[in-house]
Amino acid sequence: MIINTYDVIIIGSGMGGLGAGLALQTHNPNLKTIILEQHSIPGGFVTGFKRKGIYFDAGAEGIIYAEENQALSQTLQKLGVDQEFIKIDPLEVLYYPDKEITIHAKPEKFLDELIKHFPDSESELRSYFEIMEKMTEELWYYGPTDYTNSLWTLLKFFFRAKTIRKHFLKSFQKYLDKKISNVKLHPILSFYNLWLGLPPKDVMAPIGVVVGGNPFLKGNFYPRGGMLSYAMNLASYYNKKGGEIRYSAKVEQIVVVDKTAVGVKLTSGEEIRAKLIISNADLKQTYLKLLGKKIISKKDYTKMVLLEPSISGFGVFLGVDMDLTNFPSHLTIFNDYEEIIAPVLEGNFTLNGVAMRIPSKIDDSLKSDKGTGIVMLAIAPYDWKNKWQVTLDGDRAADYMKLKEEYAEQMIKIAERAIPGLSENIIVKEIATPITFERYSLNDGGGWYGPQKGQRRSSYKYPLDNLILTGANVDSTGVPTAFISGVKTAEKIIRKRKL
Ligand SMILES: Cc1cc2nc3c(=O)[nH]c(=O)nc-3n(C[C@H](O)[C@H](O)[C@H](O)COP(=O)(O)OP(=O)(O)OC[C@H]3O[C@@H](n4cnc5c(N)ncnc54)[C@H](O)[C@@H]3O)c2cc1C
Repeated sequence: MIINTYDVIIIGSGMGGLGAGLALQTHNPNLKTIILEQHSIPGGFVTGFKRKGIYFDAGAEGIIYAEENQALSQTLQKLGVDQEFIKIDPLEVLYYPDKEITIHAKPEKFLDELIKHFPDSESELRSYFEIMEKMTEELWYYGPTDYTNSLWTLLKFFFRAKTIRKHFLKSFQKYLDKKISNVKLHPILSFYNLWLGLPPKDVMAPIGVVVGGNPFLKGNFYPRGGMLSYAMNLASYYNKKGGEIRYSAKVEQIVVVDKTAVGVKLTSGEEIRAKLIISNADLKQTYLKLLGKKIISKKDYTKMVLLEPSISGFGVFLGVDMDLTNFPSHLTIFNDYEEIIAPVLEGNFTLNGVAMRIPSKIDDSLKSDKGTGIVMLAIAPYDWKNKWQVTLDGDRAADYMKLKEEYAEQMIKIAERAIPGLSENIIVKEIATPITFERYSLNDGGGWYGPQKGQRRSSYKYPLDNLILTGANVDSTGVPTAFISGVKTAEKIIRKRKL
């Protein structure tokens, strides 16, 4: 006889896991749910760390949908979570060799800035902004709120969203070519797509316009206290509502009896049973490692092996003893879009642009008299130079360290184009490669956004009876969407199982 210790086990305390846990415990505080997290802190890619008293975000650096009337804030409100968000303004300053272009948080101001730099494109820009607004509003009001994307939901959406429908079959690149004749504007208008590692030619026009345009029109936000504090706040609400979290608890197997998930086995050997398992862990890991070849079908096995991870990256976390009063919180040393992204997609790592974030410039509470933290990020491939010269045993030997240092130096040199003198004022330096992002998340290929877009991942949400997958791996990527995915997963369970 199987004795269930818990009603629900959740593997992983990323946004998806925390969203699911919070929604279940809010619905019924008497439920016995447990989150098992391999790391020593909650949050997955919503994370941060301190070195010598200086704080750094180590994953996400901005959250959309966090204004009062927007989806994330409304969801948090519904769950009784109190969290302050600060609007990031300016959203970004782009540093070119010969000029700076500011992406202001107010769309009219940003449009004026673009017209100032590209006066010949004024009418094209005005028309682009108009359509961007229409498409964003259509997604906002009619967009599918259920990430399972049933045919009916999609049909309803297409019927209502006229502008999106009209441009659906074009690629974003074709759309940009048609609408904006000055190609120098293309990388600016697709700035946020760059973060997903997607060149405009590989994205459908409305997705490119809306993903790129949402922060321009609806803002981007920062949780007061930093990203780690946001994750800790969610975890603490989950605990207060009766949920349990166990850290440094790595799941190595989902226990299956008669094609039904009945529990999990930890690397410590401990086995825990529950009526239902939710996996917020990586999709490929869940199928190939936690379930394994013997459990999943041959067809799913092959599909999982072939599933491509999204882009990963390289990061340098610098604590400096410098006065950065005159710098914005988010700045990017900017070059041509293709110049940044093309080498990475070909499997090479060439540093052309660097994004720099200074968390204490947005949130005073992160200031430290020990120095100022700067997070520097660039997208980077995982399979480069034999997986960054890590040995076959997974050891990070001398060659790996040398490579890390070499590229960190290059990155700092590029960053000095915006903030001269960085290299002479370093107090703290930490470096992360795709191998680091993989280690802390267990995400395939250290992928920042789950599997690469364009692959039908939502069809893998329900591998077995009593097992459901949630988060950016099976639904849309990003901090708010992963969280809302978790909440929706819980709502579905509550509806179907009357928990
Ligand atoms: C550098 C970087 C920058 C980003 N910038 C942004 C941004 O500005 N805005 C934005 O919206 N999004 C951004 N993202 C993406 C965003 O952070 C993610 O899409 C989102 O946080 C994913 O949440 P998740 O819960 O789906 O998964 P994850 O955050 O990956 O969480 C999965 C959790 O499961 C745990 N886990 C995995 N396997 C096991 C196991 N076997 N046993 C126990 N625990 C396990 C992991 O440790 C982790 O805590 C960024 C990501 C990165 C890396």
